Amino acid sequence: MERAQGSSSPRSAEVLAFVGLGSNLGDRQNNIRTALDLIDSVSGLGVLGVSSFYECEPVGRSAQPDFINAVAEVGTSLSPRSLLKALQGIEKSMGRASSRRRWGPRLIDLDILLYGEALVLEPDLVIPHALMHVRRFVLAPLCELEPDIVHPVLGLRCRELLRRLRSGMSQARFAGQSVRVAV
Ligand code: AMP
Repeated sequence: MERAQGSSSPRSAEVLAFVGLGSNLGDRQNNIRTALDLIDSVSGLGVLGVSSFYECEPVGRSAQPDFINAVAEVGTSLSPRSLLKALQGIEKSMGRASSRRRWGPRLIDLDILLYGEALVLEPDLVIPHALMHVRRFVLAPLCELEPDIVHPVLGLRCRELLRRLRSGMSQARFAGQSVRVAV
C-alpha cells in the first residue's frame, strides 16, 4: 500500500471515501496510475492512500483480458453526486466510451465504493456500491487499506466480508512485482 505524502487522513471538512479502480485494456497499470493522478488533481478531492495492484480474472463476461484492480482512499469535500460526476469525467477524458457493454472490457472503470457512512439509493448512484461485498477484487485491496472499516448497510467489517467470501468466487493470479494476488 502506498500512502500519499503529507496526509493520511481527511481534513476536518472532508469525508473519507473509497474508490475502486479497474482496467483491462492497453497498459493497465499505467491507466490506473493516470486515473489516480487525475483523481488527485480534482479540486475538493485528494488521494490519501492506494492499495497494491491486483490482477483478476473478469467477472461476468469471461472472454476478455484480465483486469488490474486497486482501491484508493480519498478525502473529499465533494457531494456523492459531484464525486460521481468527477469520476465519470475522468473516465471520459481517458477515452472510455460511454456506450460500452456492461461487464465488457474497459480502459478505466471508477466506482464509488464507500462515502463515509452515507447511504445513497438513487437510480444511477448506489452507495455503498451494490456489489462491493461480493467482489474479492474490491474487498482484498480495501482490506489492505482499512480492514476494520464497517459496511454501513451490512454492519460487518471489511475483513469479515472478505473472510465470508467463498474461495473461487473471483480468481486472481500473480502478474508482476507490484501486483498482489486477490485470494
Ligand atoms: P459500470 O459499468 O459498473 O461502470 O457502471 C456504471 C454505471 O453505474 C453508471 O451509470 C453509474 O451511474 C452507475 N453507478 C451506480 N452506483 C455507482 C457507484 N457507487 N459508483 C459508480 N457508478 C455507479
